[in-house]
Amino acid sequence: MPSQMTEHGYSKLNAFERCPRYYYFSHVLKLQSKKLAMAPTFGSVMHKGREEWLKNGRSLQHAVDGVKLILQQFVEEGWSNFSDPMEIEEFTNYCLRGIYEYHMQYKDDTIEYIPEGLEVDFKLPFEHSYFTGRLDGVCILNKMVWVDEFKTTGMTAARYLSNMTMDGKCTAYVWAARKAGFTNVQGVHLDVMVKKPRKTGFEFVRDILPKTDFQLEQWERATKELYRRMYWCEQEGYWPEHYHSCSNMFGSCPYMDLCRFGATEQLINAQFVRREEVKEDDD
Ligand code: SF4
Repeated sequence: MPSQMTEHGYSKLNAFERCPRYYYFSHVLKLQSKKLAMAPTFGSVMHKGREEWLKNGRSLQHAVDGVKLILQQFVEEGWSNFSDPMEIEEFTNYCLRGIYEYHMQYKDDTIEYIPEGLEVDFKLPFEHSYFTGRLDGVCILNKMVWVDEFKTTGMTAARYLSNMTMDGKCTAYVWAARKAGFTNVQGVHLDVMVKKPRKTGFEFVRDILPKTDFQLEQWERATKELYRRMYWCEQEGYWPEHYHSCSNMFGSCPYMDLCRFGATEQLINAQFVRREEVKEDDD
């Protein structure tokens, strides 16, 4: 079986479902828009800060150090597209304010996080292949076990929670957590940080999304079918376009010009960089 077909994380499945051609550009050729490739995301910075916070007994100092560390890495790797030092400082201060407010909101909460479940990579055999990913955490709430998912969003809290009700990734990660040994996981504990307009602060929302056995079985069945379609595309060397996915509420597909004019080397080199692993937006 070809090497790129041996492992799939949720973002790959999502990309293929969105549009097989999009998947080909983003995960086979690994093309990332030069504009996006240079931008650190608020979500990825908060993830790192919260990870250090949880691993170190809800320590603000460790959270701040985590935020500073990942921002430093962004700068060293050339990920910062800020030409103006003032912009770097503004983004840094926004992230530090975010982790500080998160700490103040939850420093005394009573949720128990299982140490073996924090930032755990999984690689599970699936349909002659693997399903891979990383759990943010596994926690105990109301004497029940939940997959912990941390999110940041610019949507309103009500809209975001409504969108997440049937979110595929949440279902996938409950399925994965059970297969990885957390057999009594009931669903997802969502921890959402809502960015207010014009960077005026944050709103914090938590909720649970219970998952039924029926949902997990349906996810497994649908995903096996998806793997089979991906394998077929790989074998045929044909990645069909799904034109209904070219633009949505988040904007236009970054590969639009490649679909309009052809994926020539000249056009690819003008608009994209090739990354070993395409970074995911944690928002
Ligand atoms: S522009 Fe449309 S058809 Fe082309 S890769 Fe993007 S989503 Fe697919």
